Amino acid sequence: MHEYSIVLSLLDQVADEAGRHEAQAVRSVRVRVGELSGVEPDLIRSAFEIARAGTVCEGADLDLVVVKARWTCPRCGGNIDQPAELVCPECGVPARLAAGDDLILERLLLEVA
Ligand SMILES: [Zn+2]
Repeated sequence: MHEYSIVLSLLDQVADEAGRHEAQAVRSVRVRVGELSGVEPDLIRSAFEIARAGTVCEGADLDLVVVKARWTCPRCGGNIDQPAELVCPECGVPARLAAGDDLILERLLLEVA
């Protein structure tokens, strides 16, 4: 399961971060998921429920934020909306995907004794 391995690496990142701050527990984890990342938010949630057992995230809330895809022109940097043709109206060059295809660990709330 694709999402399960994503969650495992996410938990690794969180454990590293918690260790660096000497946190006893993690209260919440905010993750930004791009709408084109190929990741299913519901599957991430259920994988998180299973995978967090026995980790610093055992009592953590998972806060998933879905990020809309966004394109920009690689030449002028202008923003290009999805429903339009994926070409910069100014330069005529193909747009480059600028957001919405990745998964980012955005914020952690740690409990430090
Ligand atoms: Zn342009």
